[in-house]
Amino acid sequence: MDVKQSIHIEGGDYGHIRVAAGEHVRITAMEGPQVADLWAFDADDTNIFLSAEHTRSTLEKLMPGVGDALYSNRRHAMLTVVEDTSPGTHDMLMSACDPRRYELLGHEGYHKSCAENLCKAMDEAGATAHELPSPFNTFQNVEIRHDKSIAIIPPRVEAGQYIEMRAESDLLVIISACPMDIADTNGPDGKTRPILLQRLE
Ligand SMILES: [Zn+2]
Repeated sequence: MDVKQSIHIEGGDYGHIRVAAGEHVRITAMEGPQVADLWAFDADDTNIFLSAEHTRSTLEKLMPGVGDALYSNRRHAMLTVVEDTSPGTHDMLMSACDPRRYELLGHEGYHKSCAENLCKAMDEAGATAHELPSPFNTFQNVEIRHDKSIAIIPPRVEAGQYIEMRAESDLLVIISACPMDIADTNGPDGKTRPILLQRLE
């Protein structure tokens, strides 16, 4: 397949892309550890969206691997993972970061967030989100412990590694290169890094 569109997303920023059924979406961690929150909406009806909880229960897995689909809230396959050169560690448990999350972490004043990035991207794409779904947190590393606690630990993804998915229907895909610089979401150095969002056909 050939790359038809490339969107460079600075760490903390966002991008959006429309993909037709059969086309691929590739998400690359350009410079090392960086989480990319991903949302997908049906191109014609944003009431239909990628649902982390429906994906978990349909797959009976905590995260999809190569060959697995990500499902909509109507339980139709929306995206299928076709290649993953990263260690395959992603997350479907954590919500997107939002202003209150940063407040709870002790940050004072404005801070970019994935939730706000989603809203801005929807506006730019001329679409309306009727609700804010939980994201598929590409490259996010969440440790599940025997005492039932969960912890966000540094991502395992390295520079240049990517995950590629085939669209199973026409979609609007939104990526937020997570702005988190307090928790270890993007690594312990408190830095964010760019993400490359590409469409292949
Ligand atoms: Zn975030």
